[in-house]
Amino acid sequence: MELYGDLHCDTLWKCYRFQSDLEDPTLEVKRNPPFKHLQTYAIYSPDGTEDPYAYFRAVHTYGEEVLRRYPDMCLCYSGEEIDKTFAAGKTPYIYGVEGVGFFGEDMLKNERIALELKKRGVAFISLCYNEGNHLAGGTNVEFGMSTLGKQVALLLRNVGLTVDISHLNHRSADQMLELLPDHVAATHSNCYALKAHPRNITDAQIKELICRKGLMGVNFCHHFLSYPEDAKISDLLDHFRHILRLGGEDIAAIGGDFDGMTRVPADLPDLYAIPALGDALEKEFGAELAQKILYGNMKNYIDLNL
Ligand SMILES: [Zn+2]
Repeated sequence: MELYGDLHCDTLWKCYRFQSDLEDPTLEVKRNPPFKHLQTYAIYSPDGTEDPYAYFRAVHTYGEEVLRRYPDMCLCYSGEEIDKTFAAGKTPYIYGVEGVGFFGEDMLKNERIALELKKRGVAFISLCYNEGNHLAGGTNVEFGMSTLGKQVALLLRNVGLTVDISHLNHRSADQMLELLPDHVAATHSNCYALKAHPRNITDAQIKELICRKGLMGVNFCHHFLSYPEDAKISDLLDHFRHILRLGGEDIAAIGGDFDGMTRVPADLPDLYAIPALGDALEKEFGAELAQKILYGNMKNYIDLNL
């Protein structure tokens, strides 16, 4: 495999917490893997934080400080920029945001914030984290989307941001899929039919994502992969096989969640092990489909929607 794209990692959060940088050897998303690497770096803003916008700014500033100290890394705003970055021998990246509790009732202010996020290179946005907020219900709670949450989701979509349903509970995710005709993805969730964990999405939701030409990034976290929870690459293949069986060959992608989970699969400990996943995908699904899963579908989505 030559190219690899990942819809989600929590590496910046880890750097922020431990005041480290990308040279930290304990990170799972490491620098200079032996393939071309496009990473989405997530910026996490916890639900219920009193001043979440200030918090978001702090993490984002730190993220920018971390990533911008590396001259070989380039924040990209389009598929064309990603191609050019690779052609120049550099490493492209984009951002995702988890939790936007800082959106309030003032829709003009919300629009300014949404445009600012886009200007900063954000591509994917989750309205809330697991606990949920005044916009939508997360996976730890029962309530659905609020009226304001629906207005914010439409606003995000209208400025060209993609709404991420990975941390929404099934009720909110269903409402989101009903609301948005496009610009919707599950960046790091697996198949509920194979592992009944609330962070995974149902077959009906996967089919809605397929209809909306969205994306589904399969997550490496063992909680979301298998019974018993000592997942291996073979468990990831099961989830990909299931998505493909539902017709998802154009939406299946990677949302590894490296640096955000308590335990990684034994045979997939970090980014350097991705070629083993590439080999397994190729052996199972053939080179062309493996390439779509590893990079092509994510890149195609960016080409069409960023
Ligand atoms: Zn997450």
